Amino acid sequence: MEFTSKGIYCRLADVYLDPWRPVKKALISHGHADHARWGHQNYITQQDNVPILKHRLGAISITGVPYGATFVINNVKFSFHPSGHVLGAAQIRVEHLGEVWVFTGDFKIKSDGITPPFEPVRCHTFITECTFGIPVFNWPNPQHVHDQINQWWATNKNQRKTSLLIGYSLGKAQRLLHYLDPNIGTIYTHNAVGKMSQVMEDKIKFPKYSILTPETTKKDLAGCLVLAPPAAAEGAWLKKLGPYSSGFASGWMLTRGARRRRAIDQSFVLSDHADWPGLLAAVEATQCQNVITTHGYTDIFAQYLREKGWNARTEKTDYEGEVLETDKETAL
Ligand SMILES: [Zn+2]
Repeated sequence: MEFTSKGIYCRLADVYLDPWRPVKKALISHGHADHARWGHQNYITQQDNVPILKHRLGAISITGVPYGATFVINNVKFSFHPSGHVLGAAQIRVEHLGEVWVFTGDFKIKSDGITPPFEPVRCHTFITECTFGIPVFNWPNPQHVHDQINQWWATNKNQRKTSLLIGYSLGKAQRLLHYLDPNIGTIYTHNAVGKMSQVMEDKIKFPKYSILTPETTKKDLAGCLVLAPPAAAEGAWLKKLGPYSSGFASGWMLTRGARRRRAIDQSFVLSDHADWPGLLAAVEATQCQNVITTHGYTDIFAQYLREKGWNARTEKTDYEGEVLETDKETAL
């Protein structure tokens, strides 16, 4: 496996893993825009990711493969294994003459209840993200966070305020939606969130929700919860809401700087990436000797691993991990 200007390249099979420039054949770990880019001639991905990629990228040539099934290209064996990141997300295992490499794409260790949980895969070399690869990142219990969100909504409703809950339209939004308590009130989604959720509704159970339309009125939305992506959290349409309280769900909400950067009323610490203990547990579980860090706190995490005895290094990629800026909304 080589790191080239187009992406992570397996020369023997002539395929790229999550390439960031257009290529002939791309193996795609999951549907976020920094991993699944437009313009490849052929896409191969885990089968639950096929409808997501078609929704995002339109008419593409794509093959879906179930988790655990081996496919062979020029004597190189490939398979997809759950990464627990978002629906359809997979680690990509690559084997040739007994040597095994695993590429994580993005992953999280703790099950979210809507995505098949992370499966440790033994390998010699582990190519891993480390978006949250410093010790300060240690996630709270996600169930407590979902309870906090429902309590926040109920409190806002008592004050006749609309609750504007912000989360990325692919993955985070469906996780938030799944755990909202419809007994509190009515749930609306922004169009981008609603359309993506419809793509997944045969795989994930959702409470009843309506997609916002130009006809939805201020009166309709009083006391309701509106689920929207970060890019929609600013703009003229907010005038529709009347009095509202905004909440943002992201791993970055653990840091005071990130909370301050956004004009939000309430922060919820919820991420689809591994925290520091999760990253370490994943590396250990693979029983690998070599680690290559691709995005996030790459140098710090690689250095820590070297001190602990791994042969670890960083390679430059175009992956972005969990980003906060509104203009990069689709990258998550
Ligand atoms: Zn991702």
